[in-house]
Amino acid sequence: MEDEVRDVVVVGGGAAGLSAGLMLARARRRVTVVDAGAPRNAPADGVHALLGLDGVSPAELLARGRAEVTGYGGEVIAGEVGDVSPAPEGFKIKMTNGDGLHARRLLIATGLVDELPEIPGLRERWGREVVHCPYCHGWEVRDKLIGVLATGPMSVHQALLFRQWTGDLRYLSNGREPSADEQAKLAAVGIPVISGRVTRLEAGGEHALGVCLDDGRVVEVDVVAVASRMVARAGAFSGIGIETAEHPMGSYIAADQAGRTAVPGVWVAGNATDLSAQVSAASADGARVAAQINADLVVEDTDRAVACLAQAGAAQ
Ligand SMILES: Cc1cc2nc3c(=O)[nH]c(=O)nc-3n(C[C@H](O)[C@H](O)[C@H](O)COP(=O)(O)OP(=O)(O)OC[C@H]3O[C@@H](n4cnc5c(N)ncnc54)[C@H](O)[C@@H]3O)c2cc1C
Repeated sequence: MEDEVRDVVVVGGGAAGLSAGLMLARARRRVTVVDAGAPRNAPADGVHALLGLDGVSPAELLARGRAEVTGYGGEVIAGEVGDVSPAPEGFKIKMTNGDGLHARRLLIATGLVDELPEIPGLRERWGREVVHCPYCHGWEVRDKLIGVLATGPMSVHQALLFRQWTGDLRYLSNGREPSADEQAKLAAVGIPVISGRVTRLEAGGEHALGVCLDDGRVVEVDVVAVASRMVARAGAFSGIGIETAEHPMGSYIAADQAGRTAVPGVWVAGNATDLSAQVSAASADGARVAAQINADLVVEDTDRAVACLAQAGAAQ
């Protein structure tokens, strides 16, 4: 498997990686998508705000994507890439199960990890009663009683956004008291601030959730909204010099407008580079970057053909 040189290995088979795989397979490229099978939205029931497929389950969307890629001759492998190193014609990709691949170009589409506050009861409700994005979940939680759990400077903004979907909100300061200016904004749109540190989340009585505070109070809400720290999955690429850049909401792999990273031959698409991309944007990004990679390979192939002809001419 290792000796055959692929045109492109795509690491990550979520919306971005499969969309890139589809474009490259349709461009008649030898493309392999390697996927560890843990897309970011796995806990969610449905993918929302996806035109034409609104509400499709995350698993079904990706199953359709894999079938489309393989339908055009692309390869999709289940597995995790553990390490990438430079190779004469591009990159050597080592899987954690010991298998290896070889590719001329590498596309990172590994997505990100949502780091959540260490509050017992929070992580296990993530994607259902604990949500982050009003555009993904806002409609589903409209008119419900939402507690916005403060985690950082963007939390007041998050509360003001969710106000578009419900008039019944609580701002749970969790030790981060809003400034006077922020308090004025929250008060103006009818969002009370509840001070105190959150110690755990439990099942509620009248409402779905009980938010337990350090002074013994339990604030009942239907849903908790919380901003995660979004950290691009980049660890497997440290051997080829891929680094993450800091962002106010986490970290990401920087790229130019075409999706090229600072490392020649390595490209990035989806949440790994754009922390705010929803499924439609991640998918579009994968397609756009795949076209750029194909163009890059066309240039290289053409240059090789010219050099070959010149060499043949010189030999005559
Ligand atoms: C709870 C929740 C609900 C959401 N709901 C919506 C919604 O309703 N609508 C919407 O548009 N967006 C939604 N999103 C956002 C959506 O999840 C992202 O936009 C989308 O997943 C980004 O796609 P991606 O391909 O960049 O990354 P991902 O979908 O995360 O895919 C990355 C893939 O790469 C794989 N991978 C990572 N590292 C490796 C490795 N080393 N080797 C091999 N494979 C690897 C992972 O296992 C994963 O399968 C939601 C997010 C969350 C957290």
